[in-house]
Amino acid sequence: MSLDTTAPAHSDLTVRPRASVLATLRDTIAGEVFGPDDAGYDAARIGFSLLGASRPAVITMPANAFDVVEAVRFAIAEDLRVAIMATGHGPGTNSDGALLINTSRLDGVAVNAQQRTARIGAGTTWGPVLAAAAEHGLAPLLGSTTGVGAVGYTLGGGFGWLGRRFGLSADAVRSFELVTAAGDPIHVSATSHPEIFWALRGGGTGSLGVVTEMEIDLFEVSTVYAGNLFYPAEDAPEVLRKFREWAPRQSDELTSSITLMNFPPFDEVPEPMRGRSFVLVRGCWCGDPAAGAAVIDEWRRWKQPAIDMWGEMPFAAVDAVSMDPTDPVPAMVTTESFDDLPDEVVEILTESVYPAPGAPPLLMFGEIRHAGGAIAAAGAEAANGRARGDRFLLEFVAMVGDPHAGLAVESALQVARARLAPYTTGNTYLNFTEGDDRAGRSGQAFSPSAARRLAAVKQNLDPDNRFRHGFELRAPHQNQPEA
Ligand SMILES: Cc1cc2nc3c(=O)[nH]c(=O)nc-3n(C[C@H](O)[C@H](O)[C@H](O)COP(=O)(O)OP(=O)(O)OC[C@H]3O[C@@H](n4cnc5c(N)ncnc54)[C@H](O)[C@@H]3O)c2cc1C
Repeated sequence: MSLDTTAPAHSDLTVRPRASVLATLRDTIAGEVFGPDDAGYDAARIGFSLLGASRPAVITMPANAFDVVEAVRFAIAEDLRVAIMATGHGPGTNSDGALLINTSRLDGVAVNAQQRTARIGAGTTWGPVLAAAAEHGLAPLLGSTTGVGAVGYTLGGGFGWLGRRFGLSADAVRSFELVTAAGDPIHVSATSHPEIFWALRGGGTGSLGVVTEMEIDLFEVSTVYAGNLFYPAEDAPEVLRKFREWAPRQSDELTSSITLMNFPPFDEVPEPMRGRSFVLVRGCWCGDPAAGAAVIDEWRRWKQPAIDMWGEMPFAAVDAVSMDPTDPVPAMVTTESFDDLPDEVVEILTESVYPAPGAPPLLMFGEIRHAGGAIAAAGAEAANGRARGDRFLLEFVAMVGDPHAGLAVESALQVARARLAPYTTGNTYLNFTEGDDRAGRSGQAFSPSAARRLAAVKQNLDPDNRFRHGFELRAPHQNQPEA
């Protein structure tokens, strides 16, 4: 991954198409087209993840679905690979020299309150969807932050605070509008191209064409009991041990996690947390709020937290639970899955996240989400079913200030994963990966039979592998066992 996201384009090896070639596309579409020397090129290529920005040969920002069709046909004519970006929260592999379709202008949302559905454009983030749904007492299955793109999140599965109750976001999709690698717009649903419909819901990120719109189910959730208990970092082993026996006892109305967190010493961080390390018991209860309070009271009785932020809140304010950053960040992300959290895992996690006395933290946080419930229940049929039966999902996130720190962080993540390896399930939830890690671990996300089906869909839709920057959809070796 390149750390150099701001160097002027003329000082590097960026591929430059001829001006006449760019003019052809500009004349065809209503949206915008940028070559590497155009003002606006950097703004269009750099998204949330500052480490994942590439230097495409051409960037287009379509204004409508027709523009997407024309952009893909242009890529075919010019023999360019095609990469897709909505917000840049989960970049695929480096797309230097490709055509990047930046979907951020396709930002429509239309809620049908009677049918409890929403139609969502490819560039729409969860924020406007949540707000529009909340007006009708409804909610989508968004994740930890409203800043993530609804479509990109859903194509990879989509594990949020209503997950154990209603499943992954991919389970709530009714249909997609897809522009294929042949440049054809098709409607994809359970009855129209059912095999592509199956593949897009959990296996479709960036590899099967450009989704221009999706229609999803909304759910009757308006008030929740949610928040965080903050315990001092030194309590982490004890808190993790309690969490591993407490979380599996709870009903599916609770989706919870435990987060080992080093808060940065920045002014924007509230004083009691600034520059300090905590272990957080966080989650969201979507049933009767009084019953949710009783569930959290068990923790309060067990040990008084340093800060208690659990309470009744509108689901529309759910960003307050994860407190994810909203401005672009240079961060590295990776993941592992577990069925249990034995003492060895507890020890490795605490040692990996919390720095030795006097040393600056390398990792920002390690969060373990409790899965199961509806996530596991819908797993058997799902394209990404392999990791959906796992009980605990770990996400490591590290901030990278400069290239030297980048190497140290990469090494810390590798060491932590190698130490954890004997205790993991070996399955991967791909939304918690990025770049080469995402491509390299695609094989661990799909069972051999699902991988074969996905590879067949890919072969039919995109035999030239024009969309090669997302999930890697390859048939497994002949004799690979299912489990
Ligand atoms: C702060 C943060 C919080 C997160 N929280 C959660 C969470 O709670 N749960 C969870 O499951 N994930 C979470 N994620 C992961 C996130 O869901 C994935 O990274 C997702 O891929 C981001 O989608 P995007 O479109 O916003 O990002 P982008 O980087 O723009 O796109 C991500 C990938 O999706 C593909 N893609 C985007 N749009 C389309 C399209 N229209 N057609 C085809 N492919 C497309 C792109 O090719 C790319 O490979 C989080 C990530 C971050 C950085």
